[in-house]
Amino acid sequence: MNKHDFPTTCPTCSGALEETTITHYEACRNKIYRVEQVPALVCTKCGEILLTAEVDELLEALITRDEEPDRYEEVKIPVFTFSQHFPEKTTA
Ligand SMILES: [Zn+2]
Repeated sequence: MNKHDFPTTCPTCSGALEETTITHYEACRNKIYRVEQVPALVCTKCGEILLTAEVDELLEALITRDEEPDRYEEVKIPVFTFSQHFPEKTTA
């Protein structure tokens, strides 16, 4: 991780950032991708997650290459239809 062009405190709340790994979710081509153990900086105060540009690019590459994943997991996705919950906010 290149620390030079990276903040040492949270840009949102100025809290301390902790180097850790996260689970990253990304939607692409009507699929939800989960990438585990992604190196990231996480704010110890507000929980803001920061990824370096490099990690961001690697994630993008991993997902757009669409290669065979390490494993598949079946996940139930909660689905809401906006107009069912807020009919008054939906224009016909
Ligand atoms: Zn913060």
